[in-house]
Amino acid sequence: MKSFDYARVETAEAAVAQGSGAATKFIAGGTNLLDLMKLEIETPARLVDISRLKLADIGATEAGGLSIGALALNSDLAEHPRIRSHYPVLSRALLAGASAQLRNKATTGGNLLQRTRCNYFYDTASPCNKREPGAGCSALGGFTRNHAVLGTSDRCIAAHPSDMAVALRALDATIITLGAGGGRRIAIGDFYRLPGDTPHIETVLEPGELITHIELPPPPKGKQLYRKVRDRASYAFALVSVAGIVSVEGGRIASAALAFGGLGPLPWRDSRAEAALTGKTPSADAFEAAADALLADAKGHGGNDFKIPLARRTLIACLRELTSGVAR
Ligand SMILES: Cc1cc2nc3c(=O)[nH]c(=O)nc-3n(C[C@H](O)[C@H](O)[C@H](O)COP(=O)(O)OP(=O)(O)OC[C@H]3O[C@@H](n4cnc5c(N)ncnc54)[C@H](O)[C@@H]3O)c2cc1C
Ligand code: SF4
Repeated sequence: MKSFDYARVETAEAAVAQGSGAATKFIAGGTNLLDLMKLEIETPARLVDISRLKLADIGATEAGGLSIGALALNSDLAEHPRIRSHYPVLSRALLAGASAQLRNKATTGGNLLQRTRCNYFYDTASPCNKREPGAGCSALGGFTRNHAVLGTSDRCIAAHPSDMAVALRALDATIITLGAGGGRRIAIGDFYRLPGDTPHIETVLEPGELITHIELPPPPKGKQLYRKVRDRASYAFALVSVAGIVSVEGGRIASAALAFGGLGPLPWRDSRAEAALTGKTPSADAFEAAADALLADAKGHGGNDFKIPLARRTLIACLRELTSGVAR
């Protein structure tokens, strides 16, 4: 590991003051960043330890939603009574991730910003545009079982790894930050960037901008679920995952929010798939139409071609469950 300066801060303002400069990184739980530093994939000159910030609170907002501090642990968030009762999609997504030990250390802010699990990104002997802009992409023509089929570019086909972020995308969460220029509220749909020509730039955060909170809107109507398909029951990232929230009124689908993990370079959501369901009677035809819309632009890279039919089957199974036994 390369040497670095270290500072522990007690307030968000101090973190932002210390965090300016491109070679500075915040460290929260350290469950991703430390691995990357040991491999010298991340080589910050300065590490700002934010783990003591008083930002672990989870509480109601005036609007009837929930505010989650960026330092709230994944385990505490998953077990929080209001999350379990009103936002079960989020609780289930968190519990589907990592292991109990890791969730006891991992934070909400760190989870949003964890880096991809593309095997070539971690193998410093392989060219990787995300690690070293302009170096090339070893996954193209290589091993692609875990890679994305939507939203990729000819520079990078890595998939986003977070389960939690998929549920937050379906819930329309807002990310609240503090930077040198003041505070910002960023809709999660605007937070992540597609790889395009710059796969090393993954979010709209400025260097030194701190995530302080995540805000959820009031609980959505309808049934919620999170389903994750993976190679092993634990310690495995999603091949395909679905966060679904569907309400049925008068026998028709009144609203549908569907987000996907394992398919894209960011927690994926497609308004065309949701529009294909809204106003329709739950039926095999409507579910197939939603899958058609979702996967119209999907492109496999050999080793991950299987994800396209797997995503279709998983989405349809989820929609069946989300609309079964609902008063019509
Ligand atoms: C073996 C293993 C299996 C795993 N399996 C899964 C899985 O199945 N699903 C899943 O979703 N995840 C999985 N994870 C990833 C895990 O969820 C993340 O490592 C964790 O959530 C990161 O949180 P952290 O607090 O430790 O972040 P850190 O490692 O401390 O930081 C990660 C990044 O976020 C930045 N950061 C942290 N907090 C802030 C903040 N408040 N503001 C701005 N920047 C910040 C850091 O600078 C760093 O770049 C796994 C990890 C491991 C090691
Ligand atoms: S897919 Fe992205 S992260 Fe993986 S090797 Fe290619 S550029 Fe790097």
